[in-house]
Amino acid sequence: MYDTVIIGGGASGIFSAINAARRGKSVLLCERLSRVGKKILSTGNGRCNISNQNITQERYHGTSPLFSASALTSFSAYDTVSFFESIGLSVCEGENGKLYPKSLQATSVLDLMRLELARLGVSETVDCFIKKIEKIKEGFKLTSEDNRVFSAKKVILATGGKAAPSMGTDGNGYALVSCLGHTIIKPFPSLVQVKTQPPMRALKGVKHHGEITVYIDNKPKRTESGEILFTDYGVSGPPVFNLSRFASKGITDGRDVTFKLNLFPEFSEDSLSSFLKERRRTLPHLTGENFLCGLLPKLLAREVLKISKSDKDLPRFLTALPLTVTGVMPWANAQVTAGGIATNEVNPKTMESLLVPGLFFCGEVLDIDGDCGGYNLQWAWSSAYVAAQNI
Ligand SMILES: Cc1cc2nc3c(=O)[nH]c(=O)nc-3n(C[C@H](O)[C@H](O)[C@H](O)COP(=O)(O)OP(=O)(O)OC[C@H]3O[C@@H](n4cnc5c(N)ncnc54)[C@H](O)[C@@H]3O)c2cc1C
Repeated sequence: MYDTVIIGGGASGIFSAINAARRGKSVLLCERLSRVGKKILSTGNGRCNISNQNITQERYHGTSPLFSASALTSFSAYDTVSFFESIGLSVCEGENGKLYPKSLQATSVLDLMRLELARLGVSETVDCFIKKIEKIKEGFKLTSEDNRVFSAKKVILATGGKAAPSMGTDGNGYALVSCLGHTIIKPFPSLVQVKTQPPMRALKGVKHHGEITVYIDNKPKRTESGEILFTDYGVSGPPVFNLSRFASKGITDGRDVTFKLNLFPEFSEDSLSSFLKERRRTLPHLTGENFLCGLLPKLLAREVLKISKSDKDLPRFLTALPLTVTGVMPWANAQVTAGGIATNEVNPKTMESLLVPGLFFCGEVLDIDGDCGGYNLQWAWSSAYVAAQNI
């Protein structure tokens, strides 16, 4: 019987295995795919944005986002850097506080974590899909799809969510624990591209730095700025990703969801109006679609001029271009899952189930999701650390 069996060899599973083994526990890490850490290799466009210098509570969401506070304090971004440096990974800072391996290669993060697993003697079993968890007198009995049986005093469930199912995460972890009485908050995709009406297909590939506000039932919910990418189905880019969980939830709840794009965030509508009047006066030869030449990408200028029709409306459309949100792209495109195991059934200081003593959770399987920028991996490390300290 192992002290701990960890189900799921992703970011949080590997990290909890390392920390449990460092405490002298015997650990078995079970992964359904043919190798552990597959998703880590895809993170940060292959560079692995391991954390962020600016971890704040408002970067985290869920039914009770404050659930994440204790773990994020117990194991902070500073601790993440110290941990990775302790296993040989130099860390560097990118834009907006994002932290990366100095090699800018996700493989170095995974390689060094795997070497640490080996150094600590953690047992690993791959191609091992755990399909059942049963409570027994001494702890737990786990059964795999190919009928292998494992027993453990404690179990850490680190099966991730539903996002990116090709990387082993199809939401099966929810079924494993709902049988034990846990409630699942309906999952929906987050950090994902957004479909809009009109789709503005002509703008496919155009990028512009601006500001977007998501409106739910005509009420502004959140604003994000950064590079907006227009696509054939709608919009993408970092600000869209950060708003996508609100859009996704709004759509799931049957609300009206709208994006308003401010293409000139440095101006108010009035100051932009004055600026454009002055431009008309001083540059009278810039007519038609050339009027916005030099201010906006040409295709975008053409599209906005088409929509606004008159000079009077132009500043309003340039500072609040409305796009009706019709949905988000599917799970295969999403980076993160919002929703998951209800956190009011889990102790935030230990990550232990309040319903099934000895069962712990970490990472994306819980109803906590973070913004784009290293916040999700930080949650994986922090929650895994806390679980491992308390088994
Ligand atoms: C393309 C992409 C890029 C991303 N980039 C970043 C980034 O740069 N920074 C950031 O902070 N976050 C990023 N994320 C999000 C981040 O990767 C996840 O939030 C994080 O990996 C979650 O860790 P986890 O351990 O909870 O789950 P996962 O890493 O998803 O791991 C879960 C593991 O459990 C296994 N598993 C599932 N069910 C079973 C079962 N029944 N039995 C055995 N094994 C099972 C799966 O195969 C998988 O390996 C990105 C996500 C994607 C998809």
